[in-house]
Amino acid sequence: MSRKTVIVANFKLNLLAEEAKNYTLELIEALRSEPSETTVVIAPVYTAIPAVSGALDGAHIALAAQDIAAQVSGAFTGEVSAPFLLEFGCRYVIVGHSERRRLFGENDEIVAKKARAAVDGGLIPIVCVGETLEERERGEAESVVETQLRAVLDHCPEGSEIVTAYEPVWAIGTGKTASVEDAEKMHRFIRTVLGSERGDNTSILYGGSVNADTAPALLSSADIDGALVGGASLKVASFLPIIRAAAK
Ligand code: PEP
Repeated sequence: MSRKTVIVANFKLNLLAEEAKNYTLELIEALRSEPSETTVVIAPVYTAIPAVSGALDGAHIALAAQDIAAQVSGAFTGEVSAPFLLEFGCRYVIVGHSERRRLFGENDEIVAKKARAAVDGGLIPIVCVGETLEERERGEAESVVETQLRAVLDHCPEGSEIVTAYEPVWAIGTGKTASVEDAEKMHRFIRTVLGSERGDNTSILYGGSVNADTAPALLSSADIDGALVGGASLKVASFLPIIRAAAK
């Protein structure tokens, strides 16, 4: 395990199965002539996972789910757990996205249980942490991020592979991006919270309105190991420049 450069496309609630499949085929074709060390990950809607999985057919792009159940199986209507994601070749799962926290009431305990369920189930959780604008203005950004992260670290055994994504809530889907300096400062802080061993082995991604214009400066920073991309990931044409910017 070591720090990898990781670029994640989070489709959120967009792209039907056929659209996600065509996107995947287009991305595979585009990347064919540009081999790189970057781990590219696609997180489609659950129902598009089988179609994307089929399209990937051994390509060097990893598949992720956007969420996971804290449970494994049983009477949990509407949930999807690790074995069901593994069945279709998922390798990663996003947990604790601010939209899940804010719109679906997921607190630190639920996020931590989901991260643990991912680890136990053989998936790599992409753990999202980040402060709201009010919290930043009150000077609480670091303490909020630390609390969110510690909840997950306390639940996941030392040595389990996780990816962290710093996603300031005020930058997600708003067109506002954290400055490179602010992002770097938080990434360095996150690395100290992770501790020396975990810090050396955990990729810390930045997320929040990353696009072709903002990616080069963010991704050229030694403290920023990649990006979690929402809006700009929905078209291959706008996602590709971000992947290229990561090839540092
Ligand atoms: C996200 O989905 O995590 C995200 C950062 O979205 P956007 O890039 O649209 O801000």
